[in-house]
Amino acid sequence: MGRIRILSDNIANKIAAGEVVERPASVVKELLENSLDAGGKRLRIEIEGGGRRLIRLADDGCGMLRDDALLAFERHATSKLSDVKDLLSIATLGFRGEALPSIASVSRLLLETRSAGESTGTSIEISGGKLLRCDELPAPPGTVITVQDLFFNVPARKKFLRSDQTELAHIASLATHYALAHPDKAFLLRHGTADLLDLTPVSSLRERVYQVFGSRLLDDLVDLGEVERTLKATAAGEPVNRVFRLRGFISAPQVQKLNRNSIYLFVNGRLIRDRMLLHALSAAYHNLMPPACFPVALLFLDCDFEEVDVNVHPAKTEVRFHHGTFVHDFLRDTIRERLIEARPAAPVPVPAHSPQPAVELPFSEFTQRMESAGIESMTYPLASPERIEDLPTFQLRDPAPLAQRLDFSGPPIPFLEAHGRVPDTHGSFPLGSYETADLSELSDLRPLGQLHESFIVAAGRDGLWIIDQHVAHERILFEQVLRQQAGGNPESQRLLMPIVIELTAAQQIEYARIADELTKSGFESEPFGRRTIAVKSAPAGVGAGDIEKLILEILEIAEAELRQASLEDLRRALAASIACRAAIKINMRLDASKMQWLLSELAATSCPMSCPHGRPIALRYTMREILRSFHRI
Ligand code: ADP
Ligand code: MG
Repeated sequence: MGRIRILSDNIANKIAAGEVVERPASVVKELLENSLDAGGKRLRIEIEGGGRRLIRLADDGCGMLRDDALLAFERHATSKLSDVKDLLSIATLGFRGEALPSIASVSRLLLETRSAGESTGTSIEISGGKLLRCDELPAPPGTVITVQDLFFNVPARKKFLRSDQTELAHIASLATHYALAHPDKAFLLRHGTADLLDLTPVSSLRERVYQVFGSRLLDDLVDLGEVERTLKATAAGEPVNRVFRLRGFISAPQVQKLNRNSIYLFVNGRLIRDRMLLHALSAAYHNLMPPACFPVALLFLDCDFEEVDVNVHPAKTEVRFHHGTFVHDFLRDTIRERLIEARPAAPVPVPAHSPQPAVELPFSEFTQRMESAGIESMTYPLASPERIEDLPTFQLRDPAPLAQRLDFSGPPIPFLEAHGRVPDTHGSFPLGSYETADLSELSDLRPLGQLHESFIVAAGRDGLWIIDQHVAHERILFEQVLRQQAGGNPESQRLLMPIVIELTAAQQIEYARIADELTKSGFESEPFGRRTIAVKSAPAGVGAGDIEKLILEILEIAEAELRQASLEDLRRALAASIACRAAIKINMRLDASKMQWLLSELAATSCPMSCPHGRPIALRYTMREILRSFHRI
């Protein structure tokens, strides 16, 4: 007798469950997708014990007929595909017909469902893949699926589950994703007795974002609007136009997350994790945000179903685009252009409407670790102050250590909060156009003075501004160096004496590789004896004392990061280093005309919101926030 046997359905389902059901959140994902495919408008998710004890999803969708309800637990049973051709254009979230049998094979599952067209409903109980009973049941139209004791019969899997809190955070993230994708539906996520999400239907994505994340984040988000780009392609030898649409929200560069948990990507309504799209997003924030930080993004890409293959992964979280490069560049360019156009300014934190508890759950243990470690505080080079007795400076009596950034992240001062509104004895303030939150008006600002000889304090139509003079100048110089590199006319200064720098063997190799680019950026240098180079000219503005450090820094970047990177990346890195060294430092007195010059030059840059290393340049305290803080509105 041969040794090959056909596996029983039960074993096949358990194997499929290994791919489809990785953790409680995967069950929630499959159940939610089914409820959405069924047209549910009110989705209620109940969780106990991080989802291992109980997951219940109740919807008011189309329900199932009795025969269909039984069939749904057969492998490859689906109502969503009938022909192999359908696979090429999948419009529903589900299509593999694998989820229900897989889940039922590794849990105790109860299905209660009624189709609106039938007078009674059906109740089916399955345990570890074995049908226990199938009864009639009086029930409202819709479907309730209860999954208990996940992995009770697969101890090996159960061992791999993380803490309840972690599993719950995955579930919350997932439910949040789908809630964002469907603003018109009501979502409830309950863990034990706590409501983590409780969202009533709203008519726009903007309102849903407000419900989920609160007003504070909404202020920091830039609306992409709806952008369309058409690709001319051929299908079966015929030319066709493929339209790609992108909409959603992206955060201003000052919102910097330590991981990708706040990036929500949807392709044709399907939640996905895609390396290429994530890369396009990072590329859009290049030189606007530090390399290891991530934005908040909520992106909905819609395209012809033929342009994207969703049948790549059993959990349906990966896709393959037929024209990947086109999609990548469309995303990157659209996001970058919109960021540059909107020029969002960083606000000073004020109390605001708070987000739903679900978004405050740490996504994973890893995130928790990262967050408790805190963000490394950034340090500035200190420079000797230059005396110009022109403008008043606001000196704090007890200066904070200068190497630290001012910290605006603490809790707001709760003054007067407890006493309610104060009587209005000063007349109301005319509230007009104090809504602008972008950096276009930098050039109209009136500098009031300097704080700590490091930050320019300025008054504008829109409120009070604080500008970091070093990073502001860095941005100005960065764009200037880039322009000069491109035009082949770098501004350079001849040194009285050439500076001789000793290089290691590795640095010599890097030097040979990037020597041309150094020249294009304003250096004049050449090999000089064994393992040394002589620098005769350097980019304008870089102090003689900084030149060696700058060259070594550039060689180090070239070695560490830019081996694989494009020429453009190398040029940008060079420009960023030069700008950083040549920019005025903090702890430097500036007179009124210098401050004014700095502000108007900054206003003329394409990205006045962050320095090339991604630090914010300007903070604004809007009139509205000032009025609110003084209880005038
Ligand atoms: P798929 O979603 O890939 O079709 P599933 O195993 O997830 O496969 O579900 C099998 C079938 O059960 C679906 O095609 C659908 O007809 C039915 N079904 C599942 N969940 C629901 C629900 N909440 N409401 C109505 N029908 C459902
Ligand atoms: Mg499904």
